[in-house]
Amino acid sequence: MEETIVSIATAPGEAGIGIVRISGENAIDIADSVFLSAKNEKLSQFEKNKLVYGNIYDKDIKIDEVMVSYMKEPHSYTREDVVEINCHGGIVSSRKILDIILKNGARMADNGEFTKRAFLNGRIDLSQAEAVIDLIKAKTDSGFELAIDQLDGYLSRKISEIRDELLQVIAHVVVNIEHPDEDIEELTYKKLIDDMTNIHVKVKKLLDSADTGKIIKEGLSTVIIGRPNVGKSSLLNAMLKESRAIVTEIPGTTRDIIEEMVNINGIPLKIVDTAGIRETIDIVEKIGVEKSKEFFNKGDLIIYIINYSEKLEVDDYKILNLIKQKNAIILLNKTDLPKKIDEKEVERLVGNKKIIKTSILNEKGVEELERAISDMFLSGYVKQNHNVLITNSRHKNVLDRAEQFISDAINMAEMNEAFDFIEIDMRNTWDVLGEIIGESITEDIVDEVFSRFCLGK
Ligand code: GDP
Repeated sequence: MEETIVSIATAPGEAGIGIVRISGENAIDIADSVFLSAKNEKLSQFEKNKLVYGNIYDKDIKIDEVMVSYMKEPHSYTREDVVEINCHGGIVSSRKILDIILKNGARMADNGEFTKRAFLNGRIDLSQAEAVIDLIKAKTDSGFELAIDQLDGYLSRKISEIRDELLQVIAHVVVNIEHPDEDIEELTYKKLIDDMTNIHVKVKKLLDSADTGKIIKEGLSTVIIGRPNVGKSSLLNAMLKESRAIVTEIPGTTRDIIEEMVNINGIPLKIVDTAGIRETIDIVEKIGVEKSKEFFNKGDLIIYIINYSEKLEVDDYKILNLIKQKNAIILLNKTDLPKKIDEKEVERLVGNKKIIKTSILNEKGVEELERAISDMFLSGYVKQNHNVLITNSRHKNVLDRAEQFISDAINMAEMNEAFDFIEIDMRNTWDVLGEIIGESITEDIVDEVFSRFCLGK
């Protein structure tokens, strides 16, 4: 870690300012060799944590007018000496400054290396480092809030709490094994099972929050389908009207995919393939059943709209059949028009799926749809300050393993197995849980986590 690293911290493109960031032992020396203040002083002559106005030079040639600051270790993002150069935005200035810094002895930082150093230097734990990526990548307010809490250490504390509790039980077991004659509370299987069950419940609760966590973080991919003219676009517009929609265009595809985020009672719905919404039935016709299934599988939720004032058609049967196994809500739309549909038949076809009558034109039924969605996906979830929700698949995976170990330990205790054996699984649980915060973790996992970062972070 002795090497001093440098990177452009801001996104490339035209902007007011760009920031080049340097971290490591030689950060300040390097800055001194390329920067002079307006009165020709070096950066190190100034106080730390202050912005200094001056210029970057490549030997005698002035490169750009900048504002520079330095932070002394350990009071910096990485816990190393850090220099930040605020230059003019645009790609040329920051690029030129980066090159000069590289020439003066720094090395190009890897993705996420600043945050990795913050982790390796003990300023934050691994789950907090992961929260930094989540913050940067957050697409919704609620996803952002969860990441802020995780960065604040709410998840870390929860995990540490569970591990501490576990450690106490392990200690009790060990003392009973090693000093059975000591004057301590005798460990009964009943007590051991009770204690471990308490811990199991906590692990399970975290694990159960993962589905909600994923939805809040990534959004619920939603597919709206129905025959032409049933009201798909009208529904989308009705939902967009109420919420502040975030539209992301993903360029570079043959036809730019448009993804819209609609906020439904705190759940971000990610409407899949909005541009293609008018053609959904066509998809079934053109690409066949198998491909259509793949398309439907893109959705966590399918909203199928049927026309209330027309008879069911072959297409309706086909689609209802295809989405039988999916999370789906059926809308009977255009209830303001005379009824032609056989409702009993629809009920028979969809089984226990929720059917809602709507007149989207008159804004009737849309609220009920929204309630149905939150009931379906956030049942039991109450938004509070500082919810600890699992939003990261690595954490979920770790919790799955921990849950398995603690269940095994409980099973063994129920069969009155020797304490030594039970203790092994308890220790495994403790170790595995440590992976979430980055204790007991291999270098590979650390590399994998940080490889998902962007440059300069
Ligand atoms: P899509 O092809 O499924 O996207 O359908 P649209 O949303 O474009 O709607 C087709 C037509 O039906 C439009 O003229 C809408 O105004 C109309 N429409 C949508 N919902 C209703 C409704 O609840 N009642 C009536 N009467 N017309 C509706």
